[in-house]
Amino acid sequence: ESKLQLVQRHIRAFPDYPKKGILFRDICPILKDPAALTAVTDLFEEHVRKNHQQVDLIVGLDARGFLFGPLLAQRLGVGFVLVRKKGKLPGTTISVSYDLEYGKAEAEIQEDAVAPGQKVLIIDDLLATGGTLYAACELLGKQQADILGCMVVIELKEMNGIDKLKSHNVFSLVQY
Ligand code: 5GP
Repeated sequence: ESKLQLVQRHIRAFPDYPKKGILFRDICPILKDPAALTAVTDLFEEHVRKNHQQVDLIVGLDARGFLFGPLLAQRLGVGFVLVRKKGKLPGTTISVSYDLEYGKAEAEIQEDAVAPGQKVLIIDDLLATGGTLYAACELLGKQQADILGCMVVIELKEMNGIDKLKSHNVFSLVQY
């Protein structure tokens, strides 16, 4: 079994969650199995080493980006930075609002988290419409970060999130 197959085998689907008509992809089994979690980290690390000469920071998105991001950052020997939902970070923050299916959400980052010109990779568990990653890119753009790309465990192809992120390159391990 390949590392990718091992990862695929640890993603479950729940119909009608969080509401009717949505097929939710659950990554919890990956975290429960050390070999699967190692495989995810290995695959991300291999991608980064092959495609990016220099990375300064991994930026993880609230909340499941926090599960995978620090592991990758440790492998690469770089720091990890959090993009959080509104009101969770102390000190001076920068924020952007973005559209959800119902209403709006706000993403925040600490003002001193990223220095202008730093090369960053953004990580989350899943890409659907791309709204969340797009908001993170906007935030990092405000901080004049050099965004190398976005990485997710799962990409839901039919949601066309990649179109929204067209100027940024997106890497995913598993596609549905
Ligand atoms: P987007 O903003 O691309 O529409 O949605 C992506 C965000 O919603 C991610 O932060 C992700 O954690 C969450 N999300 C949406 N659908 C799913 C799903 O089916 N499974 C998981 N694990 N997360 C989802």
